Amino acid sequence: MAAGADGPWKERPDRSTIEKLNESEEPMAEDLNPHSIARTQYDNTLPYVDSLVGWKGMAEWLFAPEKIVTVTLPVVMDDGLVHTFQGYRVIHNTGRGPGKGGIRFHPSVAEDEVKALATWMTWKCALAGIPFGGAKGGITCDPSKLSLDEKRHLTRRFIAALGDNIGPHTDVPAPDMYTDAQTMGWIYDTYSMMHHGTNSLPVVTGKPLDLGGIVGRSTATARGVYFCTERFLASGRLPKMTTIAGARVAIQGFGNAGRHAATIFRDAGAVIVGVSDTSGSALAPKGLDVAKVGAHKDSTGRVVGAPGTTSGSPLKVLEAECDILIPAAMENQITMENADRIKAALISEAANGPTTPGADVILADRGITVMPDILANAGGVVVSYFEWVQNLQNEEWDEKRVDDSLRKHIYRSTDAVMARYDEMVANLPMYQARWQEMRPGAPALRHPDYRIAAAVVAVGRAKATAEARGVWP
Ligand code: GLU
Repeated sequence: MAAGADGPWKERPDRSTIEKLNESEEPMAEDLNPHSIARTQYDNTLPYVDSLVGWKGMAEWLFAPEKIVTVTLPVVMDDGLVHTFQGYRVIHNTGRGPGKGGIRFHPSVAEDEVKALATWMTWKCALAGIPFGGAKGGITCDPSKLSLDEKRHLTRRFIAALGDNIGPHTDVPAPDMYTDAQTMGWIYDTYSMMHHGTNSLPVVTGKPLDLGGIVGRSTATARGVYFCTERFLASGRLPKMTTIAGARVAIQGFGNAGRHAATIFRDAGAVIVGVSDTSGSALAPKGLDVAKVGAHKDSTGRVVGAPGTTSGSPLKVLEAECDILIPAAMENQITMENADRIKAALISEAANGPTTPGADVILADRGITVMPDILANAGGVVVSYFEWVQNLQNEEWDEKRVDDSLRKHIYRSTDAVMARYDEMVANLPMYQARWQEMRPGAPALRHPDYRIAAAVVAVGRAKATAEARGVWP
């Protein structure tokens, strides 16, 4: 098979490219487009997914989004004026099941961002072993400037505009940045008004408990980060740190994932040395009082100024002296600009896409291990899956069943990633030779990391499913 027959292949940054970028007088900006980043991560998997020869063009197919829906959303604002918003829903791949993924309200929402997030959902669901494909949605807006009424009107208009692009067996939304159980309640209600006489509960997950929601969904992302970190440390791969108890933990972000992570890691005996939100960082090298920081956030809307902490810029928390760093905010936080200043030994990604490919190379060179987003933050979508099952069967799961099942799923996928990583490292010369044969002149493969291993497991599963189904018709 000729080189390049799988379609365009982009060179990922290696150490020499990074050095060149750093040395040039007018430094080239790092490519922070999330969809280009997803592509780089995808290309990193190609040398390892068996077998390259069998791909026969499938590599392009499995990266391309299946469907992109863009909708214009007029909303009458509280002042009586009509404001026009832009909404997106991208279904990346439904080979393994209905689309699944959150809806976010944020100023950064754009088509390329939603495409990347949908791609990561395909990989996340495949890796977690749940029967969904990947999807994501969003509305470009500043949620901090919307009243509750405006948010409700915007949500309802979005769901009406999406129509049957979503559905219990086509595409199932959930919460993401700046959307919550209340938002999911409006989504369910709007969809159910348009579909009388059917059980519409499984059309959306993360709903309020009184509306078919599942116990433990709001803490699920943070619990998943905890289980993944615990399992990885227990494997003994970081000889100096084998448990969460006693570890110093810094957390960027104090939203759903970050705030719950602070409590869960503290309860496991960790010392929380810093948290942050968009207002800044609240730091306490000897440990902060999570309850007091939470109370301060509730009364003032910010973590900065919480008793017993010193203040820093929002990104300062990433550079805190700590053992475990949990980025729980958004994309592109750990970049080529600050990766050299990270002090943690382990990064467990609660956010989607917090680390750029250039930063990954720097972190690997510095011996910093990363538990990647599609593995570490899968707890949210795994418990969403339990909620969907619960709704389809008109059942109610209890807390113990949710927690035990979540632990089992996250342990299993963490084990799968560690095993695949070991296999890739052991067989690197073979993969290297095969890659050179396929792509003559391509730079040598760099030593694998857990992000590449996780994506290799996920993409390998998506590919196996596509092969089993065949290309229709
Ligand atoms: N928004 C979450 C994520 O990025 C959850 C998605 C879901 O539950 O469908 O994983």
